[in-house]
Amino acid sequence: MRRISHHHDLTILGLHKSILEEAGIASFVLNGNSWWLANGEIALLSLVLGKRDHVQNPLFAPALCLVEDEYFDEALEILKAYQAPSLLGPDWDCPGCGERISGNFDACWQCNTATTIQPPIL
Ligand SMILES: [Zn+2]
Repeated sequence: MRRISHHHDLTILGLHKSILEEAGIASFVLNGNSWWLANGEIALLSLVLGKRDHVQNPLFAPALCLVEDEYFDEALEILKAYQAPSLLGPDWDCPGCGERISGNFDACWQCNTATTIQPPIL
């Protein structure tokens, strides 16, 4: 079981799970409910106040995990290749861990730190 993607938005993890399933790679969402138990009230308050930098506990952050670790590199390439062109921003360096992140992600897949780059207005 290896974590391939972190995101506070379970719909994003669900999308990643579906993409990997289409490629025949089995995965599951870890901490889907516990994150909201630990952070949901703070996250909702942050949304109301218009703040994105709410406190997150990475221990309980929702994560997409691979059932079989040997597909990690392939799965990572698939997720990196998946891009919604109209939403694609520039690649960015994670301020939390320094990982280079593809522009179609708004949070680091290593440490779940959110990007400071604003998405394009459609
Ligand atoms: Zn990071």
